[in-house]
Amino acid sequence: MKPTSKHLALILLCLILFAAPVYSVVPEDGRFPKDPKVAVVPEFNSYFKADYKSSRADFLKRAGELAKVFKGTNLIALPVPSKLSADLFVDVFYIPAIKSTANLLIISCGTHGIEGFTGSALQRMIMEKFITPENLEQTGVLFIHALNPYGFNYLRRVTENNIDMNRNCDTSPELFSNKNDGYSKLYTFINPDKPASLGSCSNVFFVERAIMKILKATMPVLRQAVLQGQYQYPEGLYFGGKEFEPQLIALRPVLTKYSALYERLVQIDLHTGYGERGKMHLFPNPAKTPEIKTATEKLYEGYKIDWGNNKDFYTITGDFSNLISKLIPGKQIVPMTLEFGTMDSQKTMGSLRSIQNMILENEGFHYGYKNKRTERKVKEWVLEMYSPSSPVWRTMVMEQSVKLMDQVFGKLR
Ligand SMILES: [Zn+2]
Repeated sequence: MKPTSKHLALILLCLILFAAPVYSVVPEDGRFPKDPKVAVVPEFNSYFKADYKSSRADFLKRAGELAKVFKGTNLIALPVPSKLSADLFVDVFYIPAIKSTANLLIISCGTHGIEGFTGSALQRMIMEKFITPENLEQTGVLFIHALNPYGFNYLRRVTENNIDMNRNCDTSPELFSNKNDGYSKLYTFINPDKPASLGSCSNVFFVERAIMKILKATMPVLRQAVLQGQYQYPEGLYFGGKEFEPQLIALRPVLTKYSALYERLVQIDLHTGYGERGKMHLFPNPAKTPEIKTATEKLYEGYKIDWGNNKDFYTITGDFSNLISKLIPGKQIVPMTLEFGTMDSQKTMGSLRSIQNMILENEGFHYGYKNKRTERKVKEWVLEMYSPSSPVWRTMVMEQSVKLMDQVFGKLR
C-alpha cells in the first residue's frame, strides 16, 4: 500500500504528539538560553557567595569597615522567627548623608529569598565602589539585606509561611481582602496537589495545556491573573498572606525613622528571574503621580523603563515600593524594581518554563516529589532560574549595575 497524503498527515500528527511531550519533559539542555561570548570578569564574580550565611557575613564585614570610615552609621539586625533556624535576620545598614539631606537611597535585596544571591552581591559591590564621601554629600544610603532570609537560606522564593514578600507589603490589612478571581479560575492548573513528577501527564503536556489556556484567555490576561498576587490560598503560588510577615512589622519603624530625615526617597529593590537573560530590566509598578514618572525618567535617563504600555506588563498588589510610599505619605518617592533576566521570560516559551518551574517547586514543597530525579532537577532548575551559576551572566549583571549605579549616584549629587 502506497502512503497517501492522509497517511502522511497522520504520521506527522503522531510525530508532533510524541515529539512534543519529549520536548516538554526533558528540555534539560536548552531550558535556559545560552549566554553570549562575553569576557568573564573574576572580580565581578567574586561578589557572588555560596549561600545566605556567607553572603550575610560579607555584608556585615563590609558594613563594619564602612562604619569605621563614615560617621553616624547604624547596623541593625532584625531577627526573623523560624521553626527551622535561629540565624535568620534582615540586616539594615544606614549611612547618613554628610552635608545635606536631599536624598535617601534605599537598596533592598532578597524580597524573594532565593533572588538574594544576586541582590546581596550587588549590594556589596555598591558598598565597595559607590560609598564614597563624594557620593554621600547629600545622599544617605539605607541597605536592607535579605528581606526574606528564610527563602535565601532554604532556596525558596517565598517565606517560611509560603508568603510572597512582594505581595505582602502594605500598611493596611485591607490588602488581605483583595480578591483575584482570575487566579481562582486557574487554581488547579497552577497548584496541582499531588507529589511533583516530571513524568506526570500534567508536566509532560504542560506546554500544550498552557497553550490551550492562552488560546482561551490570551497571555496578558493569564499573566496578570497569575502574577498579580492572591490572598485566598495559603499553599498556592503568589500567596500574599493573611497577615503581615514579622520582618515587615519590625522594619516599618526603621524605614519611617530614616526616611523622615530626607527630602526625597529613591528606592531600588533588586530581583532576578524576569525578562531577557543577562539583561537588566527597569520594572516599576505604575507611577502614582506624573511627578514620580518624570523624576523616574530623569534619574534613569537613557534607560528603557517598562511602565506598562507593552504586552508583557503586569501589575501587582502588596509590593515593597508600595509600602514605602504608604508609610511616608507626602514625600517624593522614586521607587524602582530592577530585574535581571535569566530565562527569557518575556517570550512565551521562557515564560511557560518559568511558571512550570515554580509550579513544580511549590508542588514538591507541599506534597513531596514522586522520585529523586524530579526533586534533583526541579531544585537545580529553580536555583538556576533565580541565581544563574554562569560566570558570564554574573559578569553581565555586574557590568550593567555598575553603569547604572554610576548614573544614579551621579544624578543624586
Ligand atoms: Zn523577585
